[in-house]
Amino acid sequence: MQSDAYTYEFTLDDQFFALIDAPEVQKGEVYVSLNVKKLAQSFELNFQTEGTVKVLCDCCLDEMDQSVHSVDRLIVKLGDEYSEEEDDLVIIPANEGVIDVAWFMYEFIALAIPIKHVHAEGECNKEMNEKLGSLLCSSSNDGEGYLETENHKMGDDGETVIDPRWNELKRLLDNN
Ligand SMILES: [Zn+2]
Repeated sequence: MQSDAYTYEFTLDDQFFALIDAPEVQKGEVYVSLNVKKLAQSFELNFQTEGTVKVLCDCCLDEMDQSVHSVDRLIVKLGDEYSEEEDDLVIIPANEGVIDVAWFMYEFIALAIPIKHVHAEGECNKEMNEKLGSLLCSSSNDGEGYLETENHKMGDDGETVIDPRWNELKRLLDNN
């Protein structure tokens, strides 16, 4: 039935980002249109994200506007306990029947920010750039990706570091 779909509009402003209190984005103005469709056994949530966030420029470390656009889908099912099964599937406790979409909206925004973000040419803080020299703002940043990969590998020796979400998943599997 048509009436089983609803659209919600959100405006996420500085106050929203302050409440979320996560490091990647602390200010911005982002519009989110959330369409919720009730399916037979689940809910389909479609997020359309559009706006601008303030991030620090990689070159001069001044604040800059970064535009973000994103389209994301989330499937929500009712179950025994909260769990994030896959990137786009979330189980929420049937007896509560509520999902806090704020964190998901934040995550979609954070993921929409390009890894490298710099001011448009000529808009950097020149004074800062001179102080920092070419350390941060060299045109060839080939080394960065490599370093990051190495860091991730560090956890491999000895104990395996398990993402807490996988523990939840494991618990679900153990019950079977
Ligand atoms: Zn800059």
